[in-house]
Amino acid sequence: MNSTPLTGLARLDLSRFPRRELLEGPTPIQHLPRLSAHLGGANIYVKREDLTGLGGGGNKLRKLEFLIGEALAVGADTIMTVGARQSNHARLTAAAAARVGLQCELVLTRTVPRSDHDYMENGNVLLDSLFGAHVHDLPGSANALQFAEQRANALRAQGRNVYVCPLGGSSPVGCLGYADCAAEIVDQSRAAELSFDRIVIPNGSGGMHAGLIAGFVALGLDPSRITGFTVYGDAAHAHATTLDKANQTLQLIDPNLRVNQSDVSIDEAQLGQGYGIPTDGMRAAVRLLASTEGLLLDPVYSGKAFAGLVEGVTSGKYAAGQKVLFVMSGGLPGLFAYRGEF
Ligand SMILES: *Cc1c(COP(=O)(O)O)cnc(C)c1O
Repeated sequence: MNSTPLTGLARLDLSRFPRRELLEGPTPIQHLPRLSAHLGGANIYVKREDLTGLGGGGNKLRKLEFLIGEALAVGADTIMTVGARQSNHARLTAAAAARVGLQCELVLTRTVPRSDHDYMENGNVLLDSLFGAHVHDLPGSANALQFAEQRANALRAQGRNVYVCPLGGSSPVGCLGYADCAAEIVDQSRAAELSFDRIVIPNGSGGMHAGLIAGFVALGLDPSRITGFTVYGDAAHAHATTLDKANQTLQLIDPNLRVNQSDVSIDEAQLGQGYGIPTDGMRAAVRLLASTEGLLLDPVYSGKAFAGLVEGVTSGKYAAGQKVLFVMSGGLPGLFAYRGEF
């Protein structure tokens, strides 16, 4: 986005895809002067994807606009999804279902090696039940998607119409939400005369990254400026799934376009021991942003990615004079589930 002129771009036309609005409008981009001065390097900005009004907010709402849109278009009465016990995607699916009057079933697995009371019952799990979702509690070894398909078939045999979304809502249709967000970032940067040298995001199921890449390619911009810090699998796994999802999403937008290997930038330096397992960098990053700017990251996704951003600034990889945009993806309820870590 930096040297590329931001004028004369084609807008993304996603109007042919069914969509149910769940956001109130564009989320703001904000400068972080105190944190930038504290780190003494690049200028840091945040895209406030946590400031989305429904159900505690977070990045899954953009995907859910298209997922719920499709579910309603096919006449579903029930939406079902899968995730870890503290899944933000599950929580926001439950909230969106309540908002539009769908029943919701969540298949949650104990994949993260934590069994303390906060992890098992607080945070997202507490909210899932407030939103009226039916939660299936499975062991870590279970195949959640297979369980969900079997449960969906059992409900269908009783006459129900069930719409199943994959992990993180990251089907190609779900990823359209972040292709749309790519256009929003471009519009906002242009209006504020800001050009970002680097965009830093967490990469979990890869859908947010894939959607942003698809949007950038469709708009003729360079998607390798987006660095995804993987918090779920190693770099090779995250690269492969993100590339595949980005291509599938781009197919929906414009079948003539392709995403290349080099369009996908993944960094695995913040993964630590694995998904949902805290790192010192994450704990420090959460405290740093909270204490310098009053903003809250989450322990599983944005805290680890922000640790990567801090490392990039302090090591000089993101040099003084550069502008770095961090996508704050939400997940605040996770802090309460990981209370003991802080
Ligand atoms: C799901 C999630 C992400 C990662 O998005 P993916 O599309 O799964 O890669 C990042 N941050 C938060 C808070 C999330 O809930």
